[in-house]
Amino acid sequence: MAPRKIFAGNWKMYTVLGEALDLAKAVIEGSKGVDGREVVLFPPSVHLREIARLCDGARVSCGAQNMYHEKEGAYTGEISPAMVKDAGARYILIGHSERRHVFGETDDMTRRKTAAAFEYGLEPMVCVGELLEEREKGASEEVVERQLKAAFQGLKTGDAARLVVAYEPVWAIGTGKVATPEIADSMHRFIRGVLGGIFGAGAAGEIPILYGGSVKPENIAGLYEKEHIDGVLVGGASLKAQSFLDIIRVNK
Ligand code: PEP
Repeated sequence: MAPRKIFAGNWKMYTVLGEALDLAKAVIEGSKGVDGREVVLFPPSVHLREIARLCDGARVSCGAQNMYHEKEGAYTGEISPAMVKDAGARYILIGHSERRHVFGETDDMTRRKTAAAFEYGLEPMVCVGELLEEREKGASEEVVERQLKAAFQGLKTGDAARLVVAYEPVWAIGTGKVATPEIADSMHRFIRGVLGGIFGAGAAGEIPILYGGSVKPENIAGLYEKEHIDGVLVGGASLKAQSFLDIIRVNK
């Protein structure tokens, strides 16, 4: 089976509740006629329950941008997998470059969070991607392979059906510098191969691999037409309903 097609919006640390509800309502309404692809929203966690309520019964789902891996405890400021699940999330974003590079999240933390997601019935969307200096050194594939192997350590072949991977080169996130469709497509093909080594080619062939990094209505067509790009994870351009809807409605 070909991988599902997914268009996800990461709202980062933007929106107060009223803005978040307006944005979600507009996306839910505007994506009604869109077939053959899933739409996922990642609002700030404080809005998650209310956004999940809006999504209930709609063809849009939602997820949290982050969580801690422990069940509960004295971890001031953190939220647990059970809380995320209870708030109505389907997905959990893990290892976003801002988590890795602003908050010091390590490969081992992404592994623990991925395992916790499975334990609590959440679907992990695991982000991988190299820094500009790593790309310039020719180390992009090595970095991405290391991140994938670390995050998925200990998982079984059957777990692949609940996984999504997002390739987000750090130099392209929020910078306006989108990876060329050729760079993204070739990295996606490489990622599929690494996933095949972990889960077996059959199971790996069904994992959606999304591209993220300065995706906009103007560049989505060139990216999405590529064979190995199964959708996108959009940051900045997902904060305006119209631009996100223009992205979602792209033809393949
Ligand atoms: C992101 O936040 O995952 C992202 C890709 O951001 P942007 O689209 O703004 O580069």
